[in-house]
Formats: sequence, C-alpha cells, structure tokens
Amino acid sequence: MSFTLHGLGVSGGIAIGRAMLMSHATLEVAHLTIAPRMVEKEIARFDTAILAAKSELETMKGSTGNAPAELGAFIDIHRMFLEDPELAEKPREIIRERRCNAEWALVQQMEHLVAQFEQFDDPYLRERKFDVVQVVERVIKELLGHPARTVTKGNKGIKEENLIVVAHDLSPADVINFKEHRFASFITDVGGATSHTAILARSMAIPAVLGLENARGLIRDGEALIIDGNRGVVIVNPDLRVLEEYQLRKEQIELEASKLKRLKTAKTETIDEIEVALHANIELPGDVPPALAAGAEGIGLFRTEFLFLNRGDMPDENEQFEAYKKVVKGMAGRPVTIRTFDLGADKDLRPEGTFGDRVKTNPALGRRAIRLSLAEPRMFQTQLRAILRASKYGPIKLLIPMLAHAHEIDQTLAALEQAKASLRAEKAVFDEHIQVGGMIEIPAAALAVNLFLRRLNFLSIGTNDLIQYTLAIDRSDEQVASLYDPLHPAVLMLIAHTLASAEKVGIPVSLCGEMAGDPKLTRLLLGMGLRIFSMHPSQILKVKDRVLKADCSELVPHVRRLLRLEEPVKIAEALEKLNA
Ligand code: PEP
Ligand code: MG
Repeated sequence: MSFTLHGLGVSGGIAIGRAMLMSHATLEVAHLTIAPRMVEKEIARFDTAILAAKSELETMKGSTGNAPAELGAFIDIHRMFLEDPELAEKPREIIRERRCNAEWALVQQMEHLVAQFEQFDDPYLRERKFDVVQVVERVIKELLGHPARTVTKGNKGIKEENLIVVAHDLSPADVINFKEHRFASFITDVGGATSHTAILARSMAIPAVLGLENARGLIRDGEALIIDGNRGVVIVNPDLRVLEEYQLRKEQIELEASKLKRLKTAKTETIDEIEVALHANIELPGDVPPALAAGAEGIGLFRTEFLFLNRGDMPDENEQFEAYKKVVKGMAGRPVTIRTFDLGADKDLRPEGTFGDRVKTNPALGRRAIRLSLAEPRMFQTQLRAILRASKYGPIKLLIPMLAHAHEIDQTLAALEQAKASLRAEKAVFDEHIQVGGMIEIPAAALAVNLFLRRLNFLSIGTNDLIQYTLAIDRSDEQVASLYDPLHPAVLMLIAHTLASAEKVGIPVSLCGEMAGDPKLTRLLLGMGLRIFSMHPSQILKVKDRVLKADCSELVPHVRRLLRLEEPVKIAEALEKLNA
C-alpha cells in the first residue's frame, strides 16, 4: 500500500531507493535488582562501558578525515557528556543506592537529564536532549556486548547508493559512516531544524527529512521509498506513475548539478557585463575547502561564535588568532569578512549559558551580538586583537552584528582603536586600515541607514534577522515558521532602501542571509542593485548560473514595478514572471 509521510525537509534534493531500518540498541533495558555483593562488580562493568564508548568516539574522531568540520565538534560534545559527572558518576550512585543493574541505572539518569533539557526555552539547548539519548545508547550497546556499529543489516544485495536509512534518531557519530557508505538519504522520527543531524545533512548535501514522528514504526525494511528533501515528504511504496515522475525530476536535478560544475571557473558577470561577487558563509576554518571547491571569491560571513559554542571556557587570544589565520591563509589572498561574536539569543558558549544569568524572557531582543560584546570589553578586546593580528596574513574585513544605534558604532570604533593601540605598543604587524562594516539586520538600521553609511566602510544585510524583527516572528520557532516571508513588501522595502542609499554614496553592500543563496531570488536581488551575495557554499553555483543568464538593464524596470506592489499574490506572480 502506498502512503505519504510529512516531516521537516532539512536538506534538499530527491532520493529514490529502498528502506534500510537502522537498528539501535533498545533503551528498553532489563530492570534487575542485584545482590549487595555484586554492586562493586556492576559499577566496574559500568565504568568499563563508559571507557569503551569514549575510546570508540576517539577512534571516530581520528577517522573523520574530510568529513564536515561540524562533525568533529559534535563528537566532542558527546565525549563531553561521557565525561560529565551527571552521566559518568550519577549512575554509579544509583547502582549502589538502588541496587539496580547498570543499564537500568543509566536509563533512569538519562530520563532525569532529558526532563531537565526539555525545560529550556532555547530550542538549541532543548534539542541537546537528543545528544544525551544518543550517548546513553552508545554506552548501553557496550554494556550489552554489541558496541555501536552503524547500519550493516538489511541491504539484501541492494547497492548502497540506493539505500535510504530510516532511523528513530541518528547521532552525528552515526552520520560519519555515511561518508564511507554513500547512502542515498536518511530520514528520522525526531530532530528539529537546528539539530546537529540537520546541520550535518545540509553540509553533506544529502537529502534528508527529520521529525517524521513514527517512520521507524510504519516503514518496513526493503520497502520502496521516495524522499523529497525540499518538501519534507516521504512516499512509501509509490505507484509506478509517481515513481516515474520523481525519477525524471531526480535526473533533471542531477543533470543540472553536473552542468553547473562547469561554471566554477567562469567569470561571474551578467549578460550586460555587470560584475557580481559570490562569497561563502562559513562557521569553522574547516569550511574553507568546500567554499573554494564551489568557486567562492571570498568569505562574506565568518560566523565566529560557532568556533566556540558548547565549550566550557572563553577562547583566548592565541586560539582565536590561529583560527582566523587559518581561514585567511586558506583563502589565499581572497577577502575574508570576519563577524565579531554574535553570542546571546540562541547561541551561548555553554549549555548552562556563560551569560545565562542575563538571558531574559526575550533573548532575541536582549543583550545579544554587539550589545554583548560592548558589555564585555575584555572579551571584545581579545577578539579584536586576534582579528587584527590575523590581518597580517591577508585581506580581512571586520563585520559588526546587530547594530541599531550610532553610539554602538562609535563605541565599536573606539574599541577597535584601543586594540590597535595596544598592538602598536607591542610592535605587532596588522592592517592599520582594516575595513569595518555593519550588519543591517534590525529594521531601525535599514530605515536610518545613513547613520551607518557615514561611519562605516561597507554594509552587509542579514535578512534572516531582518525578516525576524520586521515581521515579529521568532526565526527558531516552528509554530510561526509559515509567517517567515522574504517577499513581504516591508522586507523588500527595507532591502531596497538600504541598497539605494548605499549606492548614492558609493558604499558596497553585500547580502548574507539565506535569501542570497536562494536562486529564485537572484534576479530580483540583481534588479534591486545587489552585487555581492554571500551564501552556503553548496548554493554558489546555482546562484552563479542565474547571474550569468541575467541582464540587469532588462531586469531593473520589472523589479521596479514589482517593488511597487503590495499584495502578496501580485508579488508572487511578478516574481514568477521575472524568473520565467
Ligand atoms: C542574518 O541574520 O541574516 C545573518 C546572516 O546572520 P545569522 O543568521 O548568523 O543571524
Ligand atoms: Mg543575524
């Protein structure tokens, strides 16, 4: 029987294949009472399993090779959990006090921790409960005598590239094996858009649908599946007509992707010879090779806060300097835009929150990004010095997030001057004329953009936040996700006003929110005057294709007309015509 499941499409593309159910160690462990004389033995058994799980993660870390940079960080998080007394010590107490077997003690403690994580308001922190479960599963497998092995069953002679992994949940460490196995796709019952698994799927460009709730229970091993990662749809046992339709779409997508590779070295300019720069957004130094492989002409946004999430301490100057230097050297003379920490809101240094005591009920409107950096001058000086020192190795631009007030820019420039003076006193070499830019991601900044243009060397429009703040919707809340609309006339007006005002005074503007990487919006943005786009590396060639086929002189009058429209349906129609 054919049926369809709907989940969260977290990584685009189409996969067609057979289901391979991934068997995880069950968390339904035996509940046993042990004799007092066996207690120490049971604790020793527990300790051995923890050690074995840790060493398994070490081995995985060592074999990450050219896996996405995020993966190593995720394995570190799991190792950290294994070392945390809440998991490494508490179950020992439970074994001793309640005289239960190690598996049962561990599951009790896991349930306690999961309940704690569920109380976090912050979705990123809430989702860390899945990490706790994954780590506990790993230890239980050791206790049961069958250490974690990713999917080996169920392939029944089917080629791996035709297999689709169906799991209740996948840990990042499980996903690493996908590199070796080349599975077509994966789908899971749990996991949100910001889960580690979703982030990995996107950076590995594998179609994936998460949050299907009960796919593991409804799908049987070997059943035919179609995964539509764009729409978040899973079709089980499709009929021949649907299968043929998707086969055709899949072939078209593959053909287009292989054709696009030829564009890598082509000069990025429109038909009417207007030059356009396509830059990459990165989170870690390890993202530089994929950015270069996609033909990125620079780094338009280095989200530095990702370097240091989920660690227990603040990174010192040298550690930061090494990370920035690695990116600049890796980009070999191409410009690198380093954004100062955008910490606070959904991104804090530690699970319990380094700045957690100050996080109020509305963190996205709270002391975040530059507000936090200015309130923590030591932290800010450390970062500014590290960035300046790295500027010795190549062209660096400094980008400031979340600016709304002129005095924030003035204070930032004064802090930069202070960092420069301290380096001068040490006779350190750095770029004295480092360019300083501001993110336009608060409506106030877009409306009063002249304040910014007078003080800064360049601007970068952060549409992810600009949309969030303009439309008053929390970008991480799936309940209002449908209201997140880049084509809302108010959003378009703010972008158009920023671009036009900057053009008048000759200040360059880039756009580094998700809109920049959406090929459906490329012609619109070009027609609005955008010339610098910064996006996830996997989108660069798709956008480049649109740029090469665009003629700005022809686009401009159409876009002008579109910007005068207010009715969403009319805007959508006009965009369709523009892209036709
Ligand atoms: C944005 O807000 O558009 C942006 C690029 O920054 P981030 O997504 O890191 O908030
Ligand atoms: Mg932002």
